[in-house]
Amino acid sequence: MLPADQHVHTQWSGDAPAGSMRDACARAIELGLPGITFTDHADHTKLVVSDEAAAYIREIGGTVTGGVFEPQPLDVTGYLQCVEQCRAEFGGKLKVRAGIELGDPHLHPREAAALAGAGFDLIVGSVHSLRCPGGFADAADRYASLPDAEVVREYLAEVTAMVQSPADFAVLAHINYAARYWPGRQGPYRSADFEGEYRAALRALADSGRALEINTSGWLPLDPSLLTWWHEAGGEAISFGSDAHDPVTIGREFTAAATMAKTAGFEPGTDRTALWRR
Ligand SMILES: [Zn+2]
Ligand SMILES: [Zn+2]
Repeated sequence: MLPADQHVHTQWSGDAPAGSMRDACARAIELGLPGITFTDHADHTKLVVSDEAAAYIREIGGTVTGGVFEPQPLDVTGYLQCVEQCRAEFGGKLKVRAGIELGDPHLHPREAAALAGAGFDLIVGSVHSLRCPGGFADAADRYASLPDAEVVREYLAEVTAMVQSPADFAVLAHINYAARYWPGRQGPYRSADFEGEYRAALRALADSGRALEINTSGWLPLDPSLLTWWHEAGGEAISFGSDAHDPVTIGREFTAAATMAKTAGFEPGTDRTALWRR
């Protein structure tokens, strides 16, 4: 029994040129997933970008001015209409939810509050950005200036700050986002080397009453220690998210992730589309 995929990008995300909400629904049904929650990006942090990152952003249709990337706002009306169309077409076979992935909400309380009032079914909170000289940069870009381990430590401190904020989001996305881009200049990445920082972030998350996402995007092997630490921190619930940016990767590794979640002490409820709980 597979869980719902609660972290999916579509054509409404600026970084998902191959996204298709309709094809994502069809793929989810093909896989036997009970539900899908779209979580297109709502980012507000202006980012200082490297030349390499600027070239990629331009390639996928974004704009970089003076070395700074300003994310485009989500077209909430168009996006919600698109979700409605998918509900009308696929709703008999698939629970289709309209969510957003809200980037760095603790840094943008006004924008975050406005989106929270827009009636989304789920808001997934993400740290994407870290402080840098001149403003903020994507965590991936900080490796150019800092030792590998320092980037992960700064990232987890920022996650802790975000989950301790009153920002309105129900699930913490990709706690190991910075680790995805680990360059390995001082050795391989091991989450055990950051156990204290992970446990601090997970404790803060558990205290906030929010859920932890198992991100199965494939950047990193699935990490059972994160789930064990989450359970030990008193975490109540988990969400499964492929972080797919195209329909092909919906539900990626969900069989393995579900097994891992059960081993760590989490179970599905009677509503197969809901979060799993301890
Ligand atoms: Zn993200
Ligand atoms: Zn995402």
